[in-house]
Amino acid sequence: MKRKSVFLVALVAFMVFSTAKAQINLGEKALGAVQKGYTGFTFSNEDAAKLSKEAVAKMDAEHVIAGPTDPYTVRLNKIFGKYTKAYGLELNYKVYVIKEVNAFATADGSVRVYSGLMDVMDDNELLVVIGHEIGHVVNKDSRDAARAAYQKEALIDGAASQSGTIAAVTDSQLGKIGSAMIDSKHSRKQESEADLFAYEFMKKNGYDVNAVESAFSILAKMSEGAQSDFLTKMMSSHPDSKERAENARKRAEKDGLYKPYVHQTPVVTPVKTTKPAAKTTTKKKTTTKK
Ligand SMILES: [Zn+2]
Repeated sequence: MKRKSVFLVALVAFMVFSTAKAQINLGEKALGAVQKGYTGFTFSNEDAAKLSKEAVAKMDAEHVIAGPTDPYTVRLNKIFGKYTKAYGLELNYKVYVIKEVNAFATADGSVRVYSGLMDVMDDNELLVVIGHEIGHVVNKDSRDAARAAYQKEALIDGAASQSGTIAAVTDSQLGKIGSAMIDSKHSRKQESEADLFAYEFMKKNGYDVNAVESAFSILAKMSEGAQSDFLTKMMSSHPDSKERAENARKRAEKDGLYKPYVHQTPVVTPVKTTKPAAKTTTKKKTTTKK
């Protein structure tokens, strides 16, 4: 009896294994429900945008967001506010009040800048980093990252196995997809293209292109120093910051625009409060440790 059931289990296991294998070989028609979610779906730009938007909404809910009158927001408005409708994109942006040095942009046009990054970069350098992130969106790297993150989750948990649409992603999967999108490692080629994008962005809009070299030098210095803890995975996965700084310098030299960049101390304009605002959220600045 016992032997029989062991045999049965083995047989079933073999059958499952061989059919699974056969399904993959037979193509889409024979795909089982689980695989269908992975290989049988089409992942359009709209899907990427929708998924990204949901993932960002979840991340927003999990972070302390600088309010409209917060000095970080005021500063970012001033620096970046006028570029939300560039490159056929509809960008929205927010500051996460967190010590980490990071920024990211997702396929739906959400730009999130960490206050830790704003603390170490001056206005020009900050635009370089944001420009780099937007470069990933414009170049569709962010779409591909969203797709890859989704595929990974769908493959592991059989997400969207029935419908093959991204709506079937669970909340915890959405969280994982969000983190994967932030940490996504783009290829070297994608990175240097985004760097070029940032450089061109600065040049086109009349900024000092030497801020590109400076921004990457700051990241290079940080990754070597004691502050490396605050560099997120995404930033530290750019181990070649030094090289990228050099590339930016060479580019500026070639353009005849090179001159040593003088890093400005980030100016944080204190908010003028003529009358007490309805929302009195003033505790944020000192309680970033979470
Ligand atoms: Zn990048």
